[in-house]
Amino acid sequence: MQTAKKYDACACGVRTETYCSACCIPVCRYCWHLEVCSVDPNTVSIGYYCPKCKENEQKNVWGKLYWDQLVSLFT
Ligand SMILES: [Zn+2]
Ligand SMILES: [Zn+2]
Repeated sequence: MQTAKKYDACACGVRTETYCSACCIPVCRYCWHLEVCSVDPNTVSIGYYCPKCKENEQKNVWGKLYWDQLVSLFT
């Protein structure tokens, strides 16, 4: 019998209703990494990335774009 609402838990054990924008695992506010996913100031959208995807620049597309932009300033 499974009638109770099931909450997903982050890898650290904290219950959360937010999911990683890249891999869709539950990620809590203590662990997520916020990334602004918009260049339009009027429609700013925020992506949430788990610690693993934060490190994975192939999944964290916006982080990589930011990095490329940063690199181009010095080259
Ligand atoms: Zn993730
Ligand atoms: Zn967590």
